[in-house]
Amino acid sequence: MSDLSPGAVVTRFAPSPTGWLHLGHAAHMLYVWGIADLLRGEVLLRVEDHDRQRSKARFEEALLVDMEWLGFRAANRLPAASSTYRQSDSDAVYEEVLNSIGRDHHVYRCRCSRRQLAAGAEVSATGERVYPGTCRGAQHAADAPHGLRLAWAADAPPEEFTDGLLGSQCQRPERQCGDLLVKDRLGNWTYQFAVTVDDWRHGVNAVVRGSDLLSSTGRQIRLGRMLGRVVTPLFFHHPLVSDSGGVKLSKKQQAIPIRELREAGMSPAEVLGMAAQAVGLRGDERSLEPREVGTLIEAAHPGLLARAG
Ligand code: GLU
Repeated sequence: MSDLSPGAVVTRFAPSPTGWLHLGHAAHMLYVWGIADLLRGEVLLRVEDHDRQRSKARFEEALLVDMEWLGFRAANRLPAASSTYRQSDSDAVYEEVLNSIGRDHHVYRCRCSRRQLAAGAEVSATGERVYPGTCRGAQHAADAPHGLRLAWAADAPPEEFTDGLLGSQCQRPERQCGDLLVKDRLGNWTYQFAVTVDDWRHGVNAVVRGSDLLSSTGRQIRLGRMLGRVVTPLFFHHPLVSDSGGVKLSKKQQAIPIRELREAGMSPAEVLGMAAQAVGLRGDERSLEPREVGTLIEAAHPGLLARAG
């Protein structure tokens, strides 16, 4: 459970420590802290290192430095030793949650490899491979490599929600991705599973993230309901630096690490100004202070507060 004040709006900054934070992350931080400010909420920091093979301690250390250098503060602390806000420290929680879901829903071992899936599965409108249910009735033994999937009910109604930035949405997870992978063949909890459990147990009630994750939301709402989450969070999916109306940055420019901009002598306010322009929040790259961000978001997205209720 969260250690934050009851009733407060709680959002989160939840990077994966698989590389250096870059300009795209700075633009994301503008939205996270800006919307938190508008809703008078708090921002939790969560390290999403569910992918054990790609996550590195040096990237976690660096992201804390970059975040604070830019002037953003999280409401929680992230002890190095062990923390509820670090996914690699939360195995026992995920295990327990999965066991409890398995009492009422069908969770099964899946031996299909990514390559098998790539060869046979149809591609949905969201561009994902739809798992065809190959192992759903198979009852594989635990001795060979396998992942774990959660079967969706065939007659589940679509997931409808209003995005605070994009308006009405309707999603059908069973058609977008098929039965949900909750643990992969390497033993990693998947993003979809870990993030849903975490948003619930950490009391996150406003999720702010890039529009590349929009198609994940219906399945996270549905999974959250299976966990016993009664009230769905508010969702805000913001533009990415590459699809903004502002001056387009090349892939290479978007990926410039914040630490390199710092080492090149830029100030935090200059980096934030550059990020604001790159994501289309304003037309020039004038310096920007963290305290100005809420006003900027509100001006760029009229009606946001009304949609957030
Ligand atoms: N860990 C994810 C990322 O770095 C963020 C996921 C989310 O905000 O839901 O892209």
